[in-house]
Amino acid sequence: MSTTQIKCKCGALYQRVEDEQPLEEKGSFECGLCGKEIERWSSTHWPSFVLIEKPGASPSARKSGRTQTS
Ligand SMILES: [Zn+2]
Repeated sequence: MSTTQIKCKCGALYQRVEDEQPLEEKGSFECGLCGKEIERWSSTHWPSFVLIEKPGASPSARKSGRTQTS
């Protein structure tokens, strides 16, 4: 089991926990805020996602010096 963090384009930060299961399964996860597909899988390692930070929820957590190009 491994835990990582993944950030959506909209700024939502998710904690991603990958767990090994006995069965291979297909699935996908879409961001609950913008609807963008974050990940699609087809394996015995199923990730699950927990929203830990909403975009703009904590301005102090924003890192300066990182400009977003569009
Ligand atoms: Zn999003």
